[in-house]
Amino acid sequence: MKKFIYFLLIPFLFACNPSKSLLSKNENQLAFYKIKKNTFVHISFLQTQTWGKVGCNGMIYIHKNQAYVFDTPTDNETSEILIKTIEDQNIKVKGVVVNHFHNDCLGGLEAFHKKGIKS
Ligand SMILES: [Zn+2]
Repeated sequence: MKKFIYFLLIPFLFACNPSKSLLSKNENQLAFYKIKKNTFVHISFLQTQTWGKVGCNGMIYIHKNQAYVFDTPTDNETSEILIKTIEDQNIKVKGVVVNHFHNDCLGGLEAFHKKGIKS
């Protein structure tokens, strides 16, 4: 029963708490949700043969106009959009931390490296 209540609450919390400073132009490619002061979830998508289109979560932590990204979006194009969305708020992306070595976590790493962002 407890799990069922969480299942019901999670979409409600996301629906009530969209990011006010990081907005996505195309939520089918990249979405942001503010989960705490200075902390956002980013969601991008991976097309898989086994499970179809899968949402992949990462996190952004912002402090004093500097951001750290935890896990890249699933590809370079979407990572470029994520970086630009952050930088458009006059926030510098200082680093990216990759959780593990699958495309759901590092598929867009090249886009970060091209901008000189350390991993
Ligand atoms: Zn993975």
